[in-house]
Amino acid sequence: MQIPMLDLSGQYQHIKYEIDEAIREVLDQGTYIMGPELKEFEDNIADFLGVKYAIGVASGSDALLLSLHALGIGPGDKVIVPTFTFFATAGAVSRLGGIPVFVDIDSYSYNLNLDQVETILQKNKNVKAIVPVHLFGLPCDMNRIMALSEKYGVFIVEDACQAINADAICKERVSKTGTIGHTGCFSFFPSKNLGAYGDGGMVVTNDDNLAQQIRILRAHGSNPKYYHKIVGYNSRLDTIQAAVLNVKLKYLDDWTQKRVAVASQYNCEFKSCGLADKIVCPQIQKGHVFHQYVIQVDARDDLAVYMKEKGIGTSVYYPLPLHLQECFTGLGFQEGDLPVSEAACHRVLALPIDPELTEEQIKYIVGTIQDFFERVQKK
Ligand SMILES: *Cc1c(COP(=O)(O)O)cnc(C)c1O
Repeated sequence: MQIPMLDLSGQYQHIKYEIDEAIREVLDQGTYIMGPELKEFEDNIADFLGVKYAIGVASGSDALLLSLHALGIGPGDKVIVPTFTFFATAGAVSRLGGIPVFVDIDSYSYNLNLDQVETILQKNKNVKAIVPVHLFGLPCDMNRIMALSEKYGVFIVEDACQAINADAICKERVSKTGTIGHTGCFSFFPSKNLGAYGDGGMVVTNDDNLAQQIRILRAHGSNPKYYHKIVGYNSRLDTIQAAVLNVKLKYLDDWTQKRVAVASQYNCEFKSCGLADKIVCPQIQKGHVFHQYVIQVDARDDLAVYMKEKGIGTSVYYPLPLHLQECFTGLGFQEGDLPVSEAACHRVLALPIDPELTEEQIKYIVGTIQDFFERVQKK
């Protein structure tokens, strides 16, 4: 059996007719930048998430960059970010001249350790913002994060790039992740839960001023056109990608439910195969959208090689925490500083989580892992 980590063209085959039609309409109509499909998609996303404004940008990375820029983050400003995340979370801070303040994660949730965040906020008057990441699709504790924001006067930019359609609880209300902070950032990178056929991203906010500011920033800071009060970016979501995403958004609820079902089945299989002492499975928490299904094991690298031999794709998110990346050596972090993240980097393994994965395929994957621990490793 061959099970790739991800098969995007398989998904395309299911919706090919609608997608081809949507792309052809854009091609025929001819407004390839800022066309009507973009406005339509922004309205659809705002509706879907329950937020006032949605602004299409060129990528999730730019969604973070434009958000922080609009909030006034600049040279010397400190921004708290988790060290265990995709690079863009911290890259956006550095691109603006800001200083990423790396914080460790909770080992069970992979999200920011909020006790450490609070300790830093108590000691540090120069922190301007926090970028909580809903990693692998699991919502952060937004109740506590918004309480910290109010208590210490810091902005919250939610990195929801892996968590579109996830539910978080804040002030006794259930809201979509990304709609609770001052801004929320989404990515439509092809492998994300809602993926385009190229790069794409979105900033959402309920704040009139921030929305206006981000619209101006994505068009070189111009308002009106050709008159520039500030220096901005060329960062728009293409009309063709918006048209593709308009089609795919209709399927997102269904795909999300299927991902959660796949994750539940993995957990059941792992439970019944008696490897509880060898494998740490993710907890199925309400609101989780399982962008990735990530287990922790010893001998991770040997297991990945073995699975590859058996035709199963896996990935490591992430092999090196951000505080130990070469480009951040100047910040003075050392190995051992953020131990939970460092340990996770050696132990995490993401398994295939395609919504269309069958029961038989899941059994094969878990069975292969069982073989590795019971036969291969014992030799
Ligand atoms: C994918 C991702 C991004 C960036 O998205 P791009 O669209 O690839 O620029 C940012 N943060 C996290 C956590 C991501 O997973």
